[in-house]
Amino acid sequence: MDEGKLQRLRALPAVHEILAELQGLDEFAKFFIEEGGVSNVTYAVRHFLTKARGEIMRSEDAYPWKLAGTDFGEAIQKWLKQEVYHELVNPAMSLRRVINATGVVLHTNCGRAVLAPKVARFVAAQAERYSNLELDVDSGERGSRYVHVEEILKQLTGAEAAMVVNNNAAAVLLVMNTLAQGKEVIVSRGELVEVGGSFRIPEVLKAGGARLVEVGSTNKTWLKDYENALGPETALLLKVHTSNYRIEGFTHAVDGNELVKLGEGAGVPVVEDLGSGSFLDGTELGFPPEPTIAQVVTAGLALVTFSGDKLLGGPQAGIIVGKREYVERLRQNQLTRALRIDKLTLAALEGTLRLYEKENLEEIPVWRMLSLPVVELRLRAEELYAHISQIEELEAEIQEDYSQVGGGAWPTVNIPTWVVAVRPRHGSVEELERFLRRGQVPILSRIRKDWVLCDGRTLLAGDSEEIVSRLQAWEEKGAKW
Ligand SMILES: *Cc1c(COP(=O)(O)O)cnc(C)c1O
Repeated sequence: MDEGKLQRLRALPAVHEILAELQGLDEFAKFFIEEGGVSNVTYAVRHFLTKARGEIMRSEDAYPWKLAGTDFGEAIQKWLKQEVYHELVNPAMSLRRVINATGVVLHTNCGRAVLAPKVARFVAAQAERYSNLELDVDSGERGSRYVHVEEILKQLTGAEAAMVVNNNAAAVLLVMNTLAQGKEVIVSRGELVEVGGSFRIPEVLKAGGARLVEVGSTNKTWLKDYENALGPETALLLKVHTSNYRIEGFTHAVDGNELVKLGEGAGVPVVEDLGSGSFLDGTELGFPPEPTIAQVVTAGLALVTFSGDKLLGGPQAGIIVGKREYVERLRQNQLTRALRIDKLTLAALEGTLRLYEKENLEEIPVWRMLSLPVVELRLRAEELYAHISQIEELEAEIQEDYSQVGGGAWPTVNIPTWVVAVRPRHGSVEELERFLRRGQVPILSRIRKDWVLCDGRTLLAGDSEEIVSRLQAWEEKGAKW
């Protein structure tokens, strides 16, 4: 028995002692306690202690940290920064954290919706353990992965049945292949949407084996256009949400209720690809009226599809809700296996849906960002400005500007915000934008006129500090000129 080791092991503080100490420490620990949640810090502390014990066991003279007073707290803070935080910025990885200062909440290039920290932790916990993904615990028999979200989706949308696939593009493909293979699908010419990343309604229909029948014109489609196109080959009527553009002025589109009536008369199901789709009514936040998913469902459509990582604020996923008989048919399709949702995605989706169930909406980053009051954005800009204005090589001011929802939701809506506008005293704004983007943690900003803009709306905990330190590095670079 090595008395020295034993003593050093005994001298390691308890988890709660370290936690108490961390509470009193600087911004970073606060970041973990407030954003990461106490349970996450606790987890990190345990991890840290295990590591400390290991080091003591391995080495004769390991006494890695002074164990009294604040020194230990500082040591663990340093460790958190190195080990936990570093994973997020690990330069050896291709997939890296990026700071989104563009004010585009659902930035497609930056991974669309950010998960709630609580949900992300649930995903991580599921990832490193076995789960009941396809196990019926009561019977011990094979279960279905879809049961984990079906009930809650039914509850949130009012639909009879629900299932989930890899993304909304897959959802549309599956619906076409199941209900319309070798047959005709009627779509309005005003709704032949292309979404970024080469998803085009006509191509997806084709890939699913369906034949597109276009009706109406780009700006106007009437019920009689659909009616005239109905025939023995018609498998379904498809309505597509014109997510990423608006046709304004002399326009007419047929709403879901009317189409459902027409479909019922002709014995043809009606499907709507909602694209983004929202459980919440955006008008409360000042957005233009759009029916919620539940409202769309009440029209009596056979199926409604939408994305998991747009306004829902969850992971990439395609959600399909609607009538039981149609959902059943989707499940029977062999393609379902190819398009199936991954267990980590499923964990992220269930976690996010539970936040809606509990109405913990402020925990969903997308909605928190979209509902930030202008005064708070002004305050964020002032705080960032206070630091940036100290940097001699840069000129800075606070400006009024607009954020965007992004991800093809409310494309024409400008949400008022306040930004910090920065420009270099030497060099161009393009150079500064590039300099921000090419740091260890890439910072995405926006250029408007002669300014580089940083919008606080999409910044997450710790981002502002990194922006400031990167801009300080610009000054150091400038000093060499
Ligand atoms: C975004 C969108 C899609 C594609 O959804 P993903 O989840 O990105 O695959 C399909 N249709 C519409 C109308 C959309 O807005």
